[in-house]
Amino acid sequence: MFTQEVIIVTKPRHEAHPNDVLKQYFGYDEFREGQAELIDALLSGKDTLGVMPTGAGKSLCYQIPAMTLSGVTIVVSPLISLMRDQVQSLVANGIPAAFINSSLTASQWNRAMANARSGKYKIIYIAPERLLAPSMLELAQILQISMIAIDEAHCISQWGQDFRPSYLDIPKFVDALPTRPILAAFTATATPRVREDILKTLELKEPLMLVTGFDRPNLYFEVRQPKDKYAALTSYLKDNGGNGIVYCSTRKEVESVTERLIADGYSAARYHAGLSEGERSQTQDNFLYDRIKIIVATNAFGMGIDKSNARFVIHYNMSQNVESYYQEAGRAGRDGLPSDCILFYARKDINTALYLIKQSENEDEIFRNRKLLDQMVRYCEADGCLRRYMLEYFGETVTDDCGNCGNCKGNFDETDVTVDAQKILSHITRLNKVGKSFMFTHTADILLGKSDDFTNLPTFGLMKGVSRSYIRRITNRLTALGYIYDDGYLSTTQKANEVLFGDVTVTIRGGKTERTKKEKAPKAQAEKYGYAISEELFAKLKELRLSIAREEKIPAFIVFSDATLLDMCRKHPRTDEEMLNVSGVGVVKMERYGERFLALLRDEEPSAIQRETSPELTEKLFFEYFEIEDSQLQISRVADNINAVLLRYSKPKTSGMKLNELLVEANYLESIENVKLPTKSGQELGITTIMRHSERGSYTQCLFGKSAQRCCGELIINALLEKSS
Ligand code: ADP
Ligand code: ZN
Repeated sequence: MFTQEVIIVTKPRHEAHPNDVLKQYFGYDEFREGQAELIDALLSGKDTLGVMPTGAGKSLCYQIPAMTLSGVTIVVSPLISLMRDQVQSLVANGIPAAFINSSLTASQWNRAMANARSGKYKIIYIAPERLLAPSMLELAQILQISMIAIDEAHCISQWGQDFRPSYLDIPKFVDALPTRPILAAFTATATPRVREDILKTLELKEPLMLVTGFDRPNLYFEVRQPKDKYAALTSYLKDNGGNGIVYCSTRKEVESVTERLIADGYSAARYHAGLSEGERSQTQDNFLYDRIKIIVATNAFGMGIDKSNARFVIHYNMSQNVESYYQEAGRAGRDGLPSDCILFYARKDINTALYLIKQSENEDEIFRNRKLLDQMVRYCEADGCLRRYMLEYFGETVTDDCGNCGNCKGNFDETDVTVDAQKILSHITRLNKVGKSFMFTHTADILLGKSDDFTNLPTFGLMKGVSRSYIRRITNRLTALGYIYDDGYLSTTQKANEVLFGDVTVTIRGGKTERTKKEKAPKAQAEKYGYAISEELFAKLKELRLSIAREEKIPAFIVFSDATLLDMCRKHPRTDEEMLNVSGVGVVKMERYGERFLALLRDEEPSAIQRETSPELTEKLFFEYFEIEDSQLQISRVADNINAVLLRYSKPKTSGMKLNELLVEANYLESIENVKLPTKSGQELGITTIMRHSERGSYTQCLFGKSAQRCCGELIINALLEKSS
C-alpha cells in the first residue's frame, strides 16, 4: 500500500512564477487552454469556476497556485480513489500532499493530522463528508487555509447526475473559517443550470467563470451498427490492443460479456453496482495498476477514473443521454494521446434504455429523460460529423466538420427516399387525424395493403409490394430526424411538414461500404501520434516503467504518462538536461527515475524510422507542401494544413492555440478580455473577424485570409528552425 509519508524535497518558492512551477514540478513547457487564465485569477485572489472537459488539465489549475500561495490548499474531492491518485501523482512530483478520508487507518489518520498541523503539506485532499467533523474544524482553525479547491463541483447541484448532499457542507465549512479563503471550483459538466447552481450554492464572489471548448481533439468518435456486437468487440481488440473500458447498460450484459472475454483469453474484469465494495475497488485497482486491461462495466464505473492512458471506451449499448455518453467516452485518452470512442448501436437498445428510464416514479423526470434519449438516438443515427453533433449539443458553434470521426471518414451509400418518406408521414398523419395511432407493424401493414381495417383510408395499400423492413428503415430514420414521435405508438410531429411540403429531402444509408484495407489496419504510427516513433523503444520504456511501478507499488502512469514516454522516444534524450526537456519530466522525477531511463536510452540507437523519415525540413520545403486556401479559414483549419506538412517530416504537431500564441507574440493578435482580436498589423495582414452565435451567447472569431495563412506558416517554421538550431 502506498504510504503518505512525505519528505519535502524542494521547498516551494514564494513568488515563483506559474510557468516555473509548471516546468519544475510537472515538467511541462506550456499551459493548455484556460489554465493560465484561471491560475492568474486565483493568484490575484479571485474566486473561479473552471468548466473544462475531462482531461483538459483542471487539477493543475489549483495545484500550481497552491504551490505559490502561502499556507495550505484544501481540495474537496468526491471519490477516495480519485484523491489517492492525485496525491500519489503530486508526491511523485515532489509536492507535499496528503488526503484525509475514511480509507485511512486510525494511526495513518493521526499521522496525517499531525503532519497537517505542523504545516508539512501544501495540499490536503478531503472528502466532503469529513469537512464538518470536529477534528477537521479544529484543524481548520490552526491552519492557514489560503484556498479551497472544489473538484467535480457539479456534485453540489441537485440538477446534476452526481448530486452529493455533503457538498452542501462546503459553504458551511467556509463560514467556519477565521478568514475566507479563495474558492476555486471545477467541473466538466456543461449544463448552464448546473453551472448556476455551483455559482450560487458555493457563494462565489465575483468569480472568473472560464468555459473552454468541449472538444477533445485526440478522441476519435465512431458509431457502428454491428450485426454481432461481440464479434465486433473482439475484432476491435485484436486490431488495437491497449487498455480500455467497455460500457454495457445492464449488469446482466456486463456479466455475459466479461465471461466471454475471459473465456476467449482476454484480460478483463467486471464492474457494476451489484458487486461487493471489495471486488469493485480491487477491480479498479487492477485496472489502474495495469494488471487487467479491460473493464466491462455499467455506468457505475465512472467519475474519478483517473487512469490517464485508457486507449478506448467502447459502448456496447448506447447511453441514456448525450451528456452521459460524452462523459463516459471522455474517460479515454486523458493523456491527450489518440484514443477511440466507439459506440455499438442497435435499435433494440432503445427499448432497454426506455425501460431503464421508466423505472422512475416521477412523470416529469421520465418525460425529460425520454427527450434526452431522443437526442442520443439522433447521435447514433447521425449522418454528419459526430463531433460537431456533440459540440453543438453542448451549445458550441462549429463551422467545420472534424475530418476525424467515423462519419467524416466513413463512406456511406445514401439513397434518396423522400417520396416514400412522404407516403409514410402522410399515412401516419391521416391516422392521427382520425384519432388513431398504432404501433409500427400495424401502421406498416395498412400501407402495405395487408390489413383488414382502414381499407378506405387513401393511404391504404399505398406502398404495396415493398418490404416491411424497408418501411421500417425509413420510419426509424424519420424518428431519428424528429419527424415521427415514437413512444411505442407512432405519430407525426409539427416538423413533418418540412418533408410533406417537399422542403427537405430524406436519405437513408445503404449501410457503410466496406472500409478499405488501409483504413482498417491499425493506424500507422506517424498518423496516430503525429510523428514517427520506434514501437520497439516505446515498448522497452513501458517495460522499465512497469518494473519501477511494481517496485514502488504505484500505478505505472504515476511514474510517467504514455505521453511522456512517447516524447522520450521522439526526443531521445542522452543527458540530464535533454531529459528535463521531455514533457512530463520535472525536477523530482528526473532525480528519481531519470538515470534509469537515460541508461536505457543511451543503449539505444536513435530509431531508424526517425532518421529515415526525418529529412531536414526547410522553409522552402515547408511551403512546397503547405496548402494555402482561397477561403477565409478558422485558426484550427490553418493548423490542420500546417500539421499535414509537419507530419510528413515527423515534426511535432501544432495547434490553433499555439498559433494564436505566436500571433500574439508577433503582435498580429491581441488578447482583450480573453478574446483574441487582430491588431492593426493583423488586419493589414488579412485577419478578419466574424460574430458567431451560440446558446452561450455571442463571441468573435478570427478568420485568416491567404497572406495571413502564409504568415502562420512562417511563424511555425521559424519557431521550429530556431528550436533545432
Ligand atoms: P482533468 O482533471 O481536467 O480531467 P487532469 O488534471 O487529470 O484533467 O489532466 C489530464 C492530463 O493532462 C494529466 O496527465 C496532466 O498531467 C496533463 N496535463 C495537464 N496540464 C498539462 C499541460 N499544461 N501540459 C501537458 N500536460 C498537461
Ligand atoms: Zn467528424
